[in-house]
Amino acid sequence: MHLSPRTFPVRCSPSAAAHFAFSCLVRSRMDAKPWTLSGDGNTLLSSASRTPPRQFHVNDEEAGGGGKGGPISPQEWRGWGCVSPVPAMVTEVIEDLKLLEEDMDASMSFGGNGGKLQGEFKVEEDKKHRAKYQALGDSEKKLQFFAARQIACRLLGSRNYLCQKCWLPMEDCMCSKVLPCSLWHGMHFWVYMHPKDFLRQNNTGKLLWQLFGVQAATLCLYGIAEDEEIMWNTFKFAGKSKVWCLYPNKSALTESVQDTFSRAQFHSERASIAERNEDKILHFVLIDGTWSNSAAMFRRLKEQAKIVWGEDDLPCISLTTGASAMHKLRPQPSWDRTCTAAAAIALMSELQAVPEFSSYGLDKQAEAVEDALQVLLEALTARRLRMGRSITRKVRHTTNIC
Ligand SMILES: [Zn+2]
Repeated sequence: MHLSPRTFPVRCSPSAAAHFAFSCLVRSRMDAKPWTLSGDGNTLLSSASRTPPRQFHVNDEEAGGGGKGGPISPQEWRGWGCVSPVPAMVTEVIEDLKLLEEDMDASMSFGGNGGKLQGEFKVEEDKKHRAKYQALGDSEKKLQFFAARQIACRLLGSRNYLCQKCWLPMEDCMCSKVLPCSLWHGMHFWVYMHPKDFLRQNNTGKLLWQLFGVQAATLCLYGIAEDEEIMWNTFKFAGKSKVWCLYPNKSALTESVQDTFSRAQFHSERASIAERNEDKILHFVLIDGTWSNSAAMFRRLKEQAKIVWGEDDLPCISLTTGASAMHKLRPQPSWDRTCTAAAAIALMSELQAVPEFSSYGLDKQAEAVEDALQVLLEALTARRLRMGRSITRKVRHTTNIC
């Protein structure tokens, strides 16, 4: 269900804000995205849902990377913002799609937002992938297959259609308006993204690496073993005391930024880390998925934390809602303040208020994200207007497209 952003509380009293973990904003929006630009109801969400199908044949070699249906090269994979090697299962899914095309002597076609198969091919592929899914033994394999298939379809459907950097249709590319910026070297964002959010035009997590680069803000795709391995190897090396998850759920035990980073224990740990000459980078995981998907994503993070550290409590921090950084994001209702990029802005702004962090320019870096968000909103709005769709339409109760 979508609620209009207008129904969101605009301000909280400071005391109420202290333990605000985003959940009161999103609790009842089961299909809405906790941290994704949702625009005025579903209007911007669905801006690309009715684009004409893009049809091609796997042997179409005109495109870079071995034809539109050809394999994903490492260069193409990294072009979308990924840092891992091309996932083996994604390659496998693409090979299966190619085989099916040969068997059927029909072309795959994609339409809508993010590589949804269409037509007769879709019907056959549905049967085939469902059978394969059922035959997989354990839930881990099922998840990995699900993720790989989602990502493979999105990659093929977006090839030569979306700009690799900003994930907008090429004619709406906003890259020239986004000025890269350096993130304080002491922090690292991990955008833990659900496969259904990969290559979504209205995704805001992508802005983080577009601005700060993939070494400072890294994409980690949920269920993609190669990505998760990179993230967890880094966390293992960094140590549990330097990893936090920003999870928009009240039921998770969370601490505010002030509580976490102002307390004496944090400073004594930092001091001893400095004495040992170790890396002091703080790692923050932003869960980038719909509200209903984020619970499973958080569960997986906890399971992996248990494997790595032997305990499944992943330190979580919550953000206050009264962040002044949000002011520029108005006028509402264009913004859902809980989008992924806004969570990053709020975190940086709150850290800026902690004396130890006040000299790293986090306020300026937060501003750069705000500006990029504004550019994204304008690009989505312009696209919508150009396609003759209203941007002021009232909220309809439709399910999320993905
Ligand atoms: Zn672009």
